[in-house]
Amino acid sequence: MDKLERKFKQTLSRIKINTKSKIIVALSGGKDSCVVAYLLKKFGYNIEGFHIDLKIGKYSEECLKKVQELCCDLDIKLYVYDIKKEMGSGMCYLRTAIQDKHKAEKRSEIKNCAICGVIKKWILNKAVRGLKADYIATGHNLDDEAQTFLINILKGSPELSANSGAITKNLSDKKFIPRIKPLFYIAEKDIKNYSKKKKLPVNYEKCPCALDSYRIQVRKFLEKTPTKQKENIIKNLERVSNKIKKINISSLKYCDKCGEPSRGNVCRKCVLMGKV
Ligand code: AMP
Ligand code: ZN
Repeated sequence: MDKLERKFKQTLSRIKINTKSKIIVALSGGKDSCVVAYLLKKFGYNIEGFHIDLKIGKYSEECLKKVQELCCDLDIKLYVYDIKKEMGSGMCYLRTAIQDKHKAEKRSEIKNCAICGVIKKWILNKAVRGLKADYIATGHNLDDEAQTFLINILKGSPELSANSGAITKNLSDKKFIPRIKPLFYIAEKDIKNYSKKKKLPVNYEKCPCALDSYRIQVRKFLEKTPTKQKENIIKNLERVSNKIKKINISSLKYCDKCGEPSRGNVCRKCVLMGKV
């Protein structure tokens, strides 16, 4: 068995995922989530796919095409969430409206990826709950997780990493679908090589809106860092997360506006979309 496949299997057994559980794979059209679906299927897990069509022009068209091709090849059911139909506008319009409102109210600037990330997470949890799934699987990899931990430290909020891991921790609520990250311990370059070796249908293009995030700066900073050191960052996270979780145990509330799980009285998506 390939080294990547072995690590993938080990991660799933470490977090005790049963092959009978229903897993919805959040498919972006990119390499990471594509490899997650491919390997979950290969190892006999019960999976379906879910794609959010963000309507970001040609880029989204290409992502949708790749996701459809993958689900057809793997013979798995695919759900497509059309953001224009469901929310009234594509991501570019929603994002610009939010940013303009922030500017008009002289609030601090909010980056493209931050807005998109909050909205995607909200959609995923709500829609996947409706599909009665046990887990949402995403394509987050070792590089993503090392970046996130570093970002949280640089921003002075390491407690934001307390729940991260190959499976979400400290969050148990009937409205919250646990998220699993089977590529948590696998480096991005290895995933890219694997997807190419297996000739998987992947859109290798970057999102045209991912221009200015803090994550991009941290990614550049970590670019030349060897995999071993990225693994060390994650090991440190695991070592300290038991300690930092103590300041982060707060039961989830439900958003006053939309009823979705939230840390505050109003969830981040509703705050952004100006329903407060
Ligand atoms: P990102 O936040 O774009 O780095 O994506 C992280 C993970 O979120 C991906 O690996 C996917 O599992 C999921 N994801 C991102 N974009 C989409 C999308 N448009 N539809 C479904 N899942 C997505
Ligand atoms: Zn809300």
